[in-house]
Amino acid sequence: MMFTLRTRDALVALILGIGLMTIGCWTSSSAEDDGSSNTSTSTQESSATTMTGQARHARGDGSGNVDQDRRRKTETTKLGKRIDPGEVPPTGTEVTLSEDEWRERLDDNTFRIMREAGTERAGSGELLHNKKSGIYYCAACGAPLYSSRHKFDSGTGWPSYYKGWSEDRLGTKVDNSMGMTRTEVHCARCGGHLGHIFDDGPDPTGKRHCINSVALTFRPANEDGVVENPPEPIPSDADRADAADK
Ligand SMILES: [Zn+2]
Repeated sequence: MMFTLRTRDALVALILGIGLMTIGCWTSSSAEDDGSSNTSTSTQESSATTMTGQARHARGDGSGNVDQDRRRKTETTKLGKRIDPGEVPPTGTEVTLSEDEWRERLDDNTFRIMREAGTERAGSGELLHNKKSGIYYCAACGAPLYSSRHKFDSGTGWPSYYKGWSEDRLGTKVDNSMGMTRTEVHCARCGGHLGHIFDDGPDPTGKRHCINSVALTFRPANEDGVVENPPEPIPSDADRADAADK
């Protein structure tokens, strides 16, 4: 009798266990589905970016192995109305400067990160804990790249966004440096290296844009959600050619 009871208890426990495991699988896979829809950047190639100096890449934003419990971390930035970034250069206007010209315009650290695909030390970025409402512009050319609406605390030590301000402002390409395969993200206008995109971000995209603070210039929005003093963008190649003709 005792044996029969124990056997029955064991059977009940086994059935309960299988039931719980099934619910667990279903829950996690449906969360994955939500996260994988709505990718925020295209996989366009950019010939503007030359990937030199990759050997100097610190392990840095290659931290693809974020703890599992951080994976579905919800967005901490409150969604407000769309922020008006002020006057911005139109998309599709390329800025191609020689490396010497970039070196003149950018300080040494910004040049290393944006033109040589460097990575700032984790936790060192000025914009890491910035929670103000506003727009993050390309530190090299002045194009708007990220909004405070999409910033979240990833706990990785780099400013993180679940999407770009506008998809066509960002370019991506495969980066096989550091013995890893990662998605590199850069400014579509000037080719300046920004960081990498990982698949462990929060809803609604499931993406984590891991961006060097040095590659961004932040401008706060006013009470009406307007950035009053956006950075002066570098003129496009076409504009500079026109100016040279005159
Ligand atoms: Zn740029």
